[in-house]
Amino acid sequence: MLLTVVTASRSGAIGSGLTYEADDASQARRDIVPGSAVRVPLRKRIVEGIVIEVMEKKMKTEFDLRTIKNVLGGSPLLTEAQMKTVRWMADYYFCTLRQALQAWLPPPPWSRLLPSEIVTFTSAKNDPPRGKKARAVMEFLMGKNNVPREEIIREIEGSAAVIKRLARQGFLNERRHINPVMRNPLPETSTFLRTSLTPAQSSAYRNIKNERRPSLLFGVTGSGKTEIYAALIADAVRDGKQAILLVPEIFLAENVIDRFAEMMPRDRISILHSRLKYRQRKEEWRRIHREEVSLVIGSRSALFAPLRNLGLVIMDEEHEWTYKNEQSPRYHARETAEELCRNAGAKLLLGSATPSLESWSRAKSGNYSLVRLPDRYGGNPLPHVTIIDLAGAEFGGNYPFTAQLISAIAVQLKRKEQSVLFLNRRGAASALLCLQCRRRVISPESQLPFTVHHDKSGVPYLMDHATGVRAPVPALCPHCGSAALREIGAGTQRIEAILKNIFPDARILRADSDTLATTDQMRSLLQKMKKNEADILIGTQSVVKGLDLPNVTLAAVLIADVGLSLPHFRAGERIMQLLTQLTGRSGRSKPGAVIIQTFRPAAAEVVAAATHDTERYLDDEIKVRLHAGYPPAASMIRLLIRGPGASEKANRLYVSIMGANFRQGGAIKISVGPTIFGGGREWQVLLRGADPRELLLRFDMKGIVVDIDPVETI
Ligand code: ADP
Ligand code: ZN
Repeated sequence: MLLTVVTASRSGAIGSGLTYEADDASQARRDIVPGSAVRVPLRKRIVEGIVIEVMEKKMKTEFDLRTIKNVLGGSPLLTEAQMKTVRWMADYYFCTLRQALQAWLPPPPWSRLLPSEIVTFTSAKNDPPRGKKARAVMEFLMGKNNVPREEIIREIEGSAAVIKRLARQGFLNERRHINPVMRNPLPETSTFLRTSLTPAQSSAYRNIKNERRPSLLFGVTGSGKTEIYAALIADAVRDGKQAILLVPEIFLAENVIDRFAEMMPRDRISILHSRLKYRQRKEEWRRIHREEVSLVIGSRSALFAPLRNLGLVIMDEEHEWTYKNEQSPRYHARETAEELCRNAGAKLLLGSATPSLESWSRAKSGNYSLVRLPDRYGGNPLPHVTIIDLAGAEFGGNYPFTAQLISAIAVQLKRKEQSVLFLNRRGAASALLCLQCRRRVISPESQLPFTVHHDKSGVPYLMDHATGVRAPVPALCPHCGSAALREIGAGTQRIEAILKNIFPDARILRADSDTLATTDQMRSLLQKMKKNEADILIGTQSVVKGLDLPNVTLAAVLIADVGLSLPHFRAGERIMQLLTQLTGRSGRSKPGAVIIQTFRPAAAEVVAAATHDTERYLDDEIKVRLHAGYPPAASMIRLLIRGPGASEKANRLYVSIMGANFRQGGAIKISVGPTIFGGGREWQVLLRGADPRELLLRFDMKGIVVDIDPVETI
């Protein structure tokens, strides 16, 4: 029997694994499956490894294969379905098997992940041994079977050495077993569901349940998606299976943990995220592997929890870009979850109020089943949305607070109701916008908006990040000839100060990744809001977007256009998502309002959010992508080149890929340019078309970061 093994040790081994032989007589042989941890010789050492593949037939090999030393533990670290997914990741995302495995396993030593062995003894002879202590041990074991070593030592002090000698002399039979799984009792399933589903919710639930394809639950904010998740999780656990609930940001898990802790004992839930310390991560990993956990909640990497009987994966807010890993392996949790669920025979559910274009097009083409929840729970109306045009507004030193927004906040304070203000801090890049025709200044080269930069002496210039072309700032708008060109950036630094100045008595909370370092801080912030101990919450969108705060009746975004300044084909989609999340924060239990301050009041995504017409926006945007040849209508690959000489290397790569493309009929669109935040030291080659992957297979990608289905493309 031959094995492919990826070793833990990097030195002298290769990331895609080495071939070893397993001794046919070895008693461990039947225990070796893909996912088993083994010890193998590597050069002059013995190192740990994971079995990737087992080949029954003996192939002829040119050189002598080394034999594995032993198998660690009784159970493999990962299941067959998980190992299949590991191999898929390496293949699909152009990474080594070791890199793919690193996503699934805590760092070595891997032997520590396995259940510890216990040693037991049974007496084998009746004739008494020599020595007082030895006789005491034999007496203690009389009539008993498989007594753990620890128990004997506890009973007869100082007997450790004696036991060893007795075993050697044949007085005792020694047995090693894997520590039996300590299954916590499963929860009482009748208490699983606190609420009963509304008719609309239960029909959505049944649709999802009876469907083998992945389901996309397209439900407006406040429609009760969480309740549907709860019902499905309850079913999975009742069937003796396990579930994973992915959330885009671990702070948002705080929101739902209490909900699920009502369904099952808290210790059957494991919370996983990247901020866990190494020891905690390992501890949780072992707990899950021992099957003590029924539900894993966490950010994208929670998908790699070693659940052995996975029945359900739910991705909440599936459109969020945090589901894409921006380090190798550069996986997307959605694609990987799809593969894992297929391999494990588990159900995949994606939930969102603003589905990604990727999922939307798959639902439209029938790859996913589409389930809608168009109304809020309890008949609460969606909030009324007011659009304020920033271009015509007077600020009187309070930019970006318009008079209208200030008076709306004042009314809230008077009524003792809460407000949430969104800062859209994503992307420090600025665009040049014409206040007359409301269009951005576009690069003729790439047809994408220019970004405004400032040279060392502060003089602004324009940069086309798709091609690297620079241009001077025009005096007049190229579209309409107006001189009213304005640089639109974030300008968020002074928000809190301005607010305190206008409303000195207001109780203001701030939530961003700087002020919230721990989940405890998030918890306390949520408590303060829920107990009405604060009036205004200012937060960056990534923190505030998913919160369920029942007393908030005003939600406002200060400058909706900040993300639009990014020359990105997904910019409109992201603004749409942001604005919809905004409407989702207000009026969750009583009627509420939303204010959108924007320089582009007529933009498609602003209008769609104001009229709550997400579906039309998605359908229109799919047509735009189809026309322009961008995902999901095309596949995209990004090649990143970093470090000294990045620009020359990128250009050389670009030229040779262009050549190959030309010889094949030129079906793939290819561009080269510096990345927007790379400071000139990071360049990228972008490929898009029906099958750009095909083109890459003939090139050596060493030293180049390959980003399949990139989310960031600027
Ligand atoms: P979504 O995730 O779709 O934005 P939630 O699941 O947070 O919506 O539900 C919104 C609010 O409505 C929550 O406070 C939730 O407890 C409540 N809710 C939803 N469905 C029900 C139900 N069937 N029974 C009782 N309360 C519900
Ligand atoms: Zn203009």
